[in-house]
Amino acid sequence: MNRVYNFSAGPSMLPVPVLEQARDEMLCYGESGMSVMEMSHRSPDYEKIITEAEADLRKLVGIPDNYAVLFLQGGATTQFASVCYNLLTGSGKADYIVTGQFSKKAYKEATKYGDVRVVASSEDKNNTYIPKVTKDDFRPDCDYVHICFNNTIYGTKYHYIPDTGDIPLVADMSSCILSEPVDVTKFGVIYAGAQKNIAPAGLTLVIVRRDLLGHCRTDTPTMFDWQLQADNGSMYNTPPCYPIYIAGLVFKWLLDRGGLEAVKEYNVRKAAVLYDYLDSQDYYTCPTEKDSRSMMNIPFVTGNPDIDKKFAKEAGENGFKNIKGHRSVGGMRASIYNAMPIEGVEKLVGFMKDFAEKNPK
Ligand SMILES: *Cc1c(COP(=O)(O)O)cnc(C)c1O
Repeated sequence: MNRVYNFSAGPSMLPVPVLEQARDEMLCYGESGMSVMEMSHRSPDYEKIITEAEADLRKLVGIPDNYAVLFLQGGATTQFASVCYNLLTGSGKADYIVTGQFSKKAYKEATKYGDVRVVASSEDKNNTYIPKVTKDDFRPDCDYVHICFNNTIYGTKYHYIPDTGDIPLVADMSSCILSEPVDVTKFGVIYAGAQKNIAPAGLTLVIVRRDLLGHCRTDTPTMFDWQLQADNGSMYNTPPCYPIYIAGLVFKWLLDRGGLEAVKEYNVRKAAVLYDYLDSQDYYTCPTEKDSRSMMNIPFVTGNPDIDKKFAKEAGENGFKNIKGHRSVGGMRASIYNAMPIEGVEKLVGFMKDFAEKNPK
């Protein structure tokens, strides 16, 4: 077996010890005589899996009791609408910061449901930076402010948490959740699709302050109602059982590594391997502004689309998979989530040096 370094933006790498444990438990979980995939979600075995997953996540992130944790389906994209059904029900106003394609999609979805405004945007410079906003930028009677904390496609991240005063801050953290500690109390809602840093696709995590529950629109589809999902322990219907099980294993793996402080320390070093190299030469350039850079997604270009194409192809042949950039940025993008070992990035930089020498511009 030859495992590659998978730089995909998502679905992405999972930790090998997690995959190994899942393999070992594939045919028979504990004494159950069956796979987790075959289990009733109401069985005692599964009850334990989901309860432990939530408890471990609470411990890992430091989620206070006044926040509910929901394990849902539909991906982050479904939450673009769910946020509106659940929260856009006071003044019916919401302010969005648009810093890339996902936040723009979230904004567009919200325009169907209320008086929604773009309060700041980085589109003027192809989303290479995070705008600075202050409390005064927001309409004071907004139901919420929405941001995308890490922009997967453009490789930018908030290095500050916008101060929204009493207005709940809603953050899409799909591509940075669990990469470093986060003060949950600064947010009204955090949501994330699982397939970048948590588990296989099919699970969406929602962390919501409990006082924000119970105000949803009367026409809210049952499955979108966070209050109802919280009241039913995310089991109003069949939950995404297997991704929740894998998420639980990932949470334990992260706790075993020393928690999110230790994970951050590793991620900082890991991203620095690539950023330091990018900043030390002029064959490749990183389009993002330094004070807005992501630790998880790192785009870079040679400035010559033909050479970029050759790079992506040869990188793939050398075991560095899925490094082609998103079409809106071009070039390359290395997504280096928690499960990417630092050796993968070191070897990639070695390959980049070699490639630059062999392919003069
Ligand atoms: C991947 C991604 C999404 C889309 O997630 P789905 O689960 O496919 O709906 C939304 N926001 C961000 C920041 C992402 O990285």
